[in-house]
Amino acid sequence: GVNEAAGDTEAKEALLEKDRKYLWHHISPHNENPMIIVSGEGSWITDIEGNRYLDGMSGLWCVNVGHGRTEIADAAAEQMKTIAYSTLIQSHVPAIELAAKLNEWLEGEYRIFFSNSGSDANEVAFKIGRQYHHQRGKASKHKYISRHRAYHGNSMGALSATGQAQRKLKYEPLGAGFTHVPPPYCYRCPFGQKRGACETQCAQAYEDAIIWEGPDSVAGIIVEPVITGGGMIVPPDDYLSKLRQICDKHDVLLIVDEVICGFGRSGQRFGHLNFGVRPDMVTMAKGLTSAYSPLSATAVSAEMYDSFKESGPDSHFRHVNTFGGNPVSCAVALKNIEILERENLVSRSAFIGKELLNRMKPLQSHPHVGEIRIFGSAIGIEMVEDKQTKEPASAARVTAILAGCKQRGLLIGKNGDTVPGFMNILTLSPPLSTTDDEIVFIADTLL
Ligand code: PLP
Repeated sequence: GVNEAAGDTEAKEALLEKDRKYLWHHISPHNENPMIIVSGEGSWITDIEGNRYLDGMSGLWCVNVGHGRTEIADAAAEQMKTIAYSTLIQSHVPAIELAAKLNEWLEGEYRIFFSNSGSDANEVAFKIGRQYHHQRGKASKHKYISRHRAYHGNSMGALSATGQAQRKLKYEPLGAGFTHVPPPYCYRCPFGQKRGACETQCAQAYEDAIIWEGPDSVAGIIVEPVITGGGMIVPPDDYLSKLRQICDKHDVLLIVDEVICGFGRSGQRFGHLNFGVRPDMVTMAKGLTSAYSPLSATAVSAEMYDSFKESGPDSHFRHVNTFGGNPVSCAVALKNIEILERENLVSRSAFIGKELLNRMKPLQSHPHVGEIRIFGSAIGIEMVEDKQTKEPASAARVTAILAGCKQRGLLIGKNGDTVPGFMNILTLSPPLSTTDDEIVFIADTLL
């Protein structure tokens, strides 16, 4: 393999000792032997021993412009030297410019509320949605409906909207007023239908849930355009537009979580633009700055914002956030978006996905590949033990594939939901700047 270079093992051991003693890793079960990443360039990252890996997941679906962009570092340094911090109780230039730029990207009129993370952005959407109904004399509208398998974040509200049991284990009870419907999971259709020959019962399930819960109690629904972290679940083409109609019919807000699908990942600037739907609120993070600095945003329709303005005293959104919309992060986001535009990385994303799919065609007939699903340059490969029964691939099989790829210098991901026994979807979401040669490398490694 390419990754047998003997690097500075002594330095690694010294650091690992401190790591084991002081650092609490995210989500992984007590990882005693983590990779220690020290640098990155383009699609590649290098660990402390000098091993190079193609970052096939762009970190956590976030480094859209790739690593090592010194012009982003320069923009951050410049902003830090000018003014590193001011609140958004007042205003500052990078936030104003970024809010205007996001309106251009969203192809609609939105007011932008800045926060720090995707979870924050969703919390803000839930609070704004409740307050919005409250101020229109519909205070009973407070519930949110999302899908099983969805991931919307780690904080109490965002985790309540999340539809994966494993993520909630030992943290319940969570926020009240969240309920879930089956996902539009065509490969394992919860309604026993076939993709392309159904009546989108999964969308109807949303309306049924609204009616069962009582439309007067439902504030909104939240969906990712495509469920990414919960298994790359691509809905039928008319699913999202049906949800829009259902929301309009019952005076329910449509919140679209673009934390992963936004900023080119879907092959369009935002995932929902693939479906011709206008959400009431759009949440975003990750690719907004390509993760060079923490920043998220909740875009709220101009109509909703206006109704806040017109609702009298105490009708402002009573929510403050110290770091949200930090000038440095906003300057980073502006430079990041400039790069996405200048290098045409949104259309590059669509190309990367198509090209990878094309090159991975032979995998379709592999006995353990159930289905390959794609949205822009986000790819899910659902692994099974048996193509007929669709029994999910065993954890051992999935782990061995990840290890094999790593050995060959490619980092990929896996996801699903461990409670029903699904952790069998391999994922890829490489930087949108991935080169032609790197596409070949990824495909060849997986084959
Ligand atoms: N929403 C979606 C769709 C996500 O994938 C994530 C994170 O992976 C979040 C929200 C939460 O974002 P964060 O980790 O920045 O809080």
